[in-house]
Amino acid sequence: MTGILRYASQNLVLMLLFLAASVLVVFFFVLYICERRKSGKYRHAVDRTNDFIRAFGDGRRCIHAIVRVEDQRIIYMSPNFYAMTGIEPERVLADAEVLREAVGKKEARGIVKELEIWDRISPLDLETDYKNAGGENRHGRLVLERAGNDGFYLAVFMDITEEYELRQELQNDLEQAYKASQAKSDFLSKMSHEIRTPMNGILGMLNLAKAHIDSPQTAEDYLVKAESLSQFLLTLINDILDMSRIESGKMELESVAFDLFEVADKLNSMFKSTMEGKGLHWEVQMQDFDVRYVVGDELRLTQVIINFISNAQKFTPAGGTVSVTFRQMGRLEGNLHLMIRVRDTGKGIKSDFLSRIFRPFEQEDASTAHHYGGSGLGLAIADNIIRLMNGEIIVDSEEGKGTEFVVYVTLPVADMDQTLPDNIDTTVEIRAEEALRKAVDESTLKGLHILLAEDNDINAEIAIELLEMEGAVIERACDGQEAVHMFMDSEPGEYDAILMDIQMPNMNGWEATKVIRSSGRKDSDLLIFAMSANAFIEDKRYSLEVGMDGHISKPVDFDEVRRVIGEQLYFRRNRKDV
Ligand code: ADP
Repeated sequence: MTGILRYASQNLVLMLLFLAASVLVVFFFVLYICERRKSGKYRHAVDRTNDFIRAFGDGRRCIHAIVRVEDQRIIYMSPNFYAMTGIEPERVLADAEVLREAVGKKEARGIVKELEIWDRISPLDLETDYKNAGGENRHGRLVLERAGNDGFYLAVFMDITEEYELRQELQNDLEQAYKASQAKSDFLSKMSHEIRTPMNGILGMLNLAKAHIDSPQTAEDYLVKAESLSQFLLTLINDILDMSRIESGKMELESVAFDLFEVADKLNSMFKSTMEGKGLHWEVQMQDFDVRYVVGDELRLTQVIINFISNAQKFTPAGGTVSVTFRQMGRLEGNLHLMIRVRDTGKGIKSDFLSRIFRPFEQEDASTAHHYGGSGLGLAIADNIIRLMNGEIIVDSEEGKGTEFVVYVTLPVADMDQTLPDNIDTTVEIRAEEALRKAVDESTLKGLHILLAEDNDINAEIAIELLEMEGAVIERACDGQEAVHMFMDSEPGEYDAILMDIQMPNMNGWEATKVIRSSGRKDSDLLIFAMSANAFIEDKRYSLEVGMDGHISKPVDFDEVRRVIGEQLYFRRNRKDV
């Protein structure tokens, strides 16, 4: 029995030993497998990190570097430093001074200064220009901050050229917008000053005239001065309106056929007597033309040339010469290349002012306005008008010798010009024009029965007084509706013409005209003229569109009223003759 027990216990020990050995084998095997898997994973991770670092190094936009705090040495520089700057990273690792090659001496000095004042707590963030490997100027951003256990700085340098350029562009736009808004407020304050100055003069002169009412000659002198100041004020207001319409992009050009010879002729008669009165030689020439009629905005083109001529006249002393030359430079595919030159032998313009001459309110110096008057708006308007016509103005001047302004524009040749026969058909027209001019010169308002539609009492009083002084018989309506009623209640043909204000209560002048024109009465085509403070070209066009015969702007020039009525009466008579 004891033998059996010994045998059994010996086997149990063996079995336990065997079991323990098997567990150990399995344990080490599992350990081995785990270690193998772990090291595989590790290798994989290491590979990924290398890829990552390599990716850093390949990039063309971002350089990474590590600087040791203790001796400020660069101990790591990503390999793409070479691709971005053309400098081997090893050279920088050996000597950080090499960095100056990339950023240039001036920028390097700036960076050193920034480093000196850096608190070394918050990240240092700065921008610098640098040269890339191709030698191009680029722009970059450097961020430097403490890393690890504060033993290192991590430096990141990014190429931000595109962002920088965009920022510069936005900055420029912002500055432009700021300048434009500044210019607008300058314009407003300047405008207010410019208007107040003649206004002050007008009121002063009127007060003086009133005070000297017992001495008619003295009073008249003051009134004449008040009148000339009013004319100046009117020109100024027109210029300011033109300028503000240009600035808001609202100036529109007309495209209507007009006669270039007539333009030259009008300019000649407009300036002849004042030029001669000032002792200036004056001439207007037409050169090389085989075209007479072109399509464009006659009024605006003339406005520009008048401005040049007025300046030439103003700035040229007696004995000098002012000449205007219209020249056909060429004719191509139905277009006329036109040059208009205004030349004077006056005081000339300083060269430093020439670059500013087309800016609003610019005059050569403070004494210009004092000696010669003017507001400095004319050339700014002229320049804008000619630009709208896709043309250009060239100015050439020599101090003490004289000035010339040359306009180049291309205008379509009018159809009527192409149909004109070569032989001188134009004489008929010239004769017709002469007859018209004669009729207009001789026209009178004497005996004309005029209906005046005007809501403003002062304007009505002035108009009635002046028209009656010309011999007209006037009846007044206080608004458009009353004008319509008075016309409807009148005998056919009782009124020769209606002078119609536009902005009136109850019914405006345009509406009233439409009602009258469509009334069906046989005298519904009587002469109707707008007489309005709506003075824009668009208003004038609309007046014609609703069937008016003309548009007279306020303040009313009563000579113009006489001329315009005379002209229309002449046309009507001749139409009836035909
Ligand atoms: P304004 O004549 O009302 O002052 P402009 O815009 O027409 O305004 O002219 C601006 C300035 O240009 C003038 O004040 C003058 O200093 C200069 N200028 C223009 N034309 C001439 C000229 N023909 N000769 C000399 N200076 C001129």
